[in-house]
Amino acid sequence: MNVGAVLKGCVAGKTLSRRGAIALSSAQGEELARLLAAASDLRDRHKGKTITFSPKLFIPLTNLCRDFCGYCTFRKAPDEPDANTMTLDEVLQVAHQGKRLGCTEVLFSLGDKPEAIYPEMRQFLDQLGLRRTLDYLYNACKLVLEETGLLPHSNPGLMGKKDLERLKAVNISLGLMLENVSERLMLPSGPHFDAPDKKPSLRLKTIEEAGKLGIPFTTGILIGIGENWEERIDSLLAIRELHERYGHIQEVIIQNFRAKAEIPMRDHPEPSVDEMLKTIALARLILGGDMNIQAPPNLAPESYPLYLHAGINDWGGVSPLTPDYINPEAPWPALMILSQKTAEAGFRLKPRLAVYPEFVHQGGKFIPASLFPYVERLCGEDGLLKNDFLRRLVTFQRPEGLKVQELQG
Ligand code: SF4
Repeated sequence: MNVGAVLKGCVAGKTLSRRGAIALSSAQGEELARLLAAASDLRDRHKGKTITFSPKLFIPLTNLCRDFCGYCTFRKAPDEPDANTMTLDEVLQVAHQGKRLGCTEVLFSLGDKPEAIYPEMRQFLDQLGLRRTLDYLYNACKLVLEETGLLPHSNPGLMGKKDLERLKAVNISLGLMLENVSERLMLPSGPHFDAPDKKPSLRLKTIEEAGKLGIPFTTGILIGIGENWEERIDSLLAIRELHERYGHIQEVIIQNFRAKAEIPMRDHPEPSVDEMLKTIALARLILGGDMNIQAPPNLAPESYPLYLHAGINDWGGVSPLTPDYINPEAPWPALMILSQKTAEAGFRLKPRLAVYPEFVHQGGKFIPASLFPYVERLCGEDGLLKNDFLRRLVTFQRPEGLKVQELQG
């Protein structure tokens, strides 16, 4: 199969096959430019010229984790100086601060099942009469929702059916990065060797259960951790297959690996800009024009505007208050800069909720009735954030301080 023929099929609206995607993954030079243009065009036809982001708070509920991923700086053992589990008072304090700055999403990110290997976490939970970190997460989400009206979105690792059911009542959406479907990455030299919760079949199972329960779900793949093009494409196809069955994948994140001095993979090469652009374009063509494709701007500060020319339609969560605890060395771009770069590429930046308009508009199919009042308070007719929330948004000028900025709609 040659690149030209495959692209012609994509432009004509044909579903991209595995074979076709593999052919596209070899595109270079002029062919790569045509691949990006086809993906960009598909995005334009389905999403128009709007690029979204979610004004969020990042709450690292606990950085203890039972896994040891080769690329992670977030996880800590209890005896490390930065090990931390937040109290509910601390959670609420940050949530109130974020609300004042115009945030509407509270992203809870945390290690997976730390109680399985750390007695310290078991003791912490015992004192609260709880057994599992996921129970503590439920309490934190409920508190934030009821006390602030901000919308929780949790990303706590693997979840079983009962966990998903319970968390759905206090989360507007949930997330789990697939990372990659390759079992090979769990071999001794791989990034997931000592990470039992990164077993692809278990992650696919969580995503599938979320689909059966009608939970708007965020997932994605991590680029440059030792996977090859076929494995990358198979991961995107696995996501497509689950979405075709359940219609619940609200966004797919294409995230680049970053080498850091403190991680086992410190000498591993980072993916090139071209590799990211090609993966984003493939994701767009594999997943189709309606899917929300996201790439984080803070992980490629020099080149992120190029992602707009490869088919993304969302920048993900951007916070005026809290750092990206997963990549603390990478500050969020100032909102005004993000808005300006987006406009220079011919698009308009708009804030959204932690759930996308297409899911809001399906009402009770994806959103529990108990969450309707919270969504109605924030949501405009177009399913994005209401205009008065727009006016409260802020420019992200750190460390000089935060300036309130009215975004021009
Ligand atoms: S990436 Fe997630 S699961 Fe892996 S070690 Fe870090 S916190 Fe744990």
